[in-house]
Amino acid sequence: MPSPAVQLNFSTTWSYAPAPESAAHVKVAPRYELFIDNRFTPPAEGGYFDTINPATEKKLSEVARATAADVDKAVAAARRAYEGPWSRLAPNERGKYVYRIARMIQDRARELAVIESMDGGKPIRESRDVDVPLAAAHFFYYAGWADKLDYAFPNRSPKPLGVCGQIIPWNFPLLMAAWKLAPALATGNTVVLKPAETTPLTAMKLAEIIQDADLPPGVVNILTGAGDSGAAIVNHPGIDKIAFTGSTEVGKLIQKSLASSRKKLTLELGGKAANIVFADAPIDQAVEGIINGIFFNQGHVCCAGSRLLVQESIAEMVLRKLKDRMRTLIVGDPLDKNTDVGAINSKPQLEKIQQYLKIGGEEGADLWCTECDLPQRGYWCRPTLFLNCSQSHRVVQDEIFGPVLAVQTFRTVEEAIEKANNTPYGLSGGVWTDKGSKIFKVSSQLRAGVLWANTYNKFDPASPFGGYKESGMGREGGLHGLLPYLSLN
Ligand code: NAD
Repeated sequence: MPSPAVQLNFSTTWSYAPAPESAAHVKVAPRYELFIDNRFTPPAEGGYFDTINPATEKKLSEVARATAADVDKAVAAARRAYEGPWSRLAPNERGKYVYRIARMIQDRARELAVIESMDGGKPIRESRDVDVPLAAAHFFYYAGWADKLDYAFPNRSPKPLGVCGQIIPWNFPLLMAAWKLAPALATGNTVVLKPAETTPLTAMKLAEIIQDADLPPGVVNILTGAGDSGAAIVNHPGIDKIAFTGSTEVGKLIQKSLASSRKKLTLELGGKAANIVFADAPIDQAVEGIINGIFFNQGHVCCAGSRLLVQESIAEMVLRKLKDRMRTLIVGDPLDKNTDVGAINSKPQLEKIQQYLKIGGEEGADLWCTECDLPQRGYWCRPTLFLNCSQSHRVVQDEIFGPVLAVQTFRTVEEAIEKANNTPYGLSGGVWTDKGSKIFKVSSQLRAGVLWANTYNKFDPASPFGGYKESGMGREGGLHGLLPYLSLN
């Protein structure tokens, strides 16, 4: 066991000068229309709604609200493209378009990163170093598969499905669009995509990229709107497949409404991952992993390590080090390169988190949070711990989707596994230990689709991602991510 005397010392007299990323180069139009058949098209009857910057509460732009009539138009365009130019294209030519999108995302990386941070509240360091590069990497990766599908599935004659409806959440707007579009296009499908209502802007920039990349009209259509626009896509009879990423609650609704239809369905839903720290773990590294696991993207991460399970013998030391490290986290302006924790994505999401802060206290858990200053305007939440939680507490069972970590202890490997598995979710998890055999034992018994050992939140387009239980069905990424977009004879 590491000596408790080995202590990280974060105390310093240094303070950081502001290091804001300039937004002067960014062009955000006052209004965005729907993107149908490669043209920006006014909505039939839905009008427009505002998208705001959650760090300032100021309006950035307004976007169109798609209704059933617009979905009809977009599906018809996608069908024409599917049966026309897109299916006649040689696979390597299709791949070239996907490569082109990847390169154009790289060309416009700085603009996309700034817009992502303005519209969604995430720190610029994350949108610049994670969201945008990973989105480009996803297109590059799947472009490579476009002309190799027969090798990926030998003797199975893979065929595209047709028109895919894709609905995405607000936590990684551009990246989730890439996760959806890249495999669908590489496999020869056409798409109607709906971004989340609070973060439509990078999807509209992606529409510009698709136009500039000269994709045949109708191959990608992007409709903005809220839940009713999403439901109109789900229920449209001309759609062959629905790919949904979002909450378990909405995922269940979609599954019910498609139960008697021929449409294929994949669901990437919520999570409540356990980050398990054993006494033989590299403790300082584990503390960084706990911080990254829950405070990355303000905890708005489906695979966030939102439960800490720490072995009882080291709990006191780990919590002391964790609190010390949490005190150093800078919460504030998402465009400042020093910022660690940005703005909460929307007012309703902040209210949901605040509701859980209340519930946790009422249930008897001990709330501890940092004392950092928060900006006057905007939506903010201090990095928070719930200590002395028990398994039945809602803050242990429910996905809060904010910078709030529920802490529990355990004594044995078996207890850790049982507690980790004891939620309705099964998306991800983390294991911290010096022993390879323990990593294998624990990870083989955790009911979670994605597991990290002695690290956390590592993503790669070649690696499949997805859940068990109420975290969804189907996989995105890697070879597995091609399957939901193909029929195999
Ligand atoms: P949400 O379910 O409220 O919304 C997701 C999307 O669905 C949005 O575009 C929304 O407009 C749309 N929608 C809402 N109601 C709909 C309906 N009835 N029919 C069709 N579409 C509808 O989720 P959210 O709050 O935007 O996102 C957060 C959730 O997403 C969290 O639970 C998180 O865990 C999950 N998520 C999962 C993954 C994953 O890969 N498993 C990745 C990111 C986020």
